[in-house]
Amino acid sequence: MSAVINDPQPIRFYRPDYHVRTPEMRSPEYVQMSTAAAITLGLVPGRMHRTSCTHCLNLLVTYPEGCRANCAYCGLARHREEARDYADRNFIRVDWPTARYDEVIERVKAGGDKGQFQRMCISMITHPNSGDDTYVLLEKWVREVPQVPVSILSNPTTMERDDLVKLKKMGAEIFTVALDAVTPEIFDRTRGRGVDSPHKFEKYWQAIEWAAEIFGPERFGAHLIGGMGETEKEILGVAQRIKDMGGHNHMFAFFPERGSLMEDWPAADRAQWRRVQLARFIIDYAGGHLREMLFNEQGQVIDFGLPEGDLADLINSGKPFRTSGCPGKDDEEVSACNRPFGDSTPSDIRSFPFALNRRDVAIVRRQMRGEDVGTL
Ligand code: SF4
Repeated sequence: MSAVINDPQPIRFYRPDYHVRTPEMRSPEYVQMSTAAAITLGLVPGRMHRTSCTHCLNLLVTYPEGCRANCAYCGLARHREEARDYADRNFIRVDWPTARYDEVIERVKAGGDKGQFQRMCISMITHPNSGDDTYVLLEKWVREVPQVPVSILSNPTTMERDDLVKLKKMGAEIFTVALDAVTPEIFDRTRGRGVDSPHKFEKYWQAIEWAAEIFGPERFGAHLIGGMGETEKEILGVAQRIKDMGGHNHMFAFFPERGSLMEDWPAADRAQWRRVQLARFIIDYAGGHLREMLFNEQGQVIDFGLPEGDLADLINSGKPFRTSGCPGKDDEEVSACNRPFGDSTPSDIRSFPFALNRRDVAIVRRQMRGEDVGTL
């Protein structure tokens, strides 16, 4: 179910049996936002499990004709044209209600987020207008809400180097690339030629290199999805490469998105995912390096390269298992962008959108030992 906010009436909900096409709802006049952001802003009613708000206003450009790419794991993909109203398609597990951008800005300026937003993020899609509309959204935000920094989640397929230079000049703080698939084969199979989709692995890496050069250290990152057939060593090799370039890694556990071409795939293996989360955190924040880690023949981590006591402290802090993404203003190691339940359900959390308590850490430890236990 998707909600349409303030257009032009107060909140209206679209039910699956009550489809209304929304031909006029397109960026830059309209944007979609994550359900968590809409709840935080008080635009839709709702409560999130153990999470009262998000610290990142995640926005998505929107067009009735939708995204022109066809990524096999994505709920927005072109093959989902059976979801007649584009705004009814789910993305990273959750619904993305649509609202007028000016209304969103006015709400934030009036304190509707209760001071919670520490970051705003514009997610581009594969559409001919996505680049120009991102400029419009960015320019307006920087002028109206300069105290909340902006991240751009880019679409390298439709971008050139000058676009990054322009975004930086206009005030974007962080530039990220959703590489998602970490090997050329998996990339091609899930978002390239294998699914008649236009993305190219080399172009994505080129965009990451441009970002490192133009935005600089700590100001760029990559989204990586764990659990699409890669080994732990492969995904951590990419994480180390990004770190060596000066960036950060924003990890997502693979979740079979309803209606996607991969909806029948299993979710990321819990034990594998926990090891990857822990090793990624060691690479990004604890001064570790891939070359100090040991892997078995299946590419699984068998030694994290840290003294036992340090490793135990890190696990007990719970930080490695929280959502990873762009930082807020309080703690560089904790992401403002917590994407509540974007890669899992409350009963089987992969990326914790809140600080772990002792019971959560105990569950994570059991999962790392391979026990079949969820998080509720
Ligand atoms: S981590 Fe969050 S804020 Fe940063 S680019 Fe990704 S979605 Fe946007």
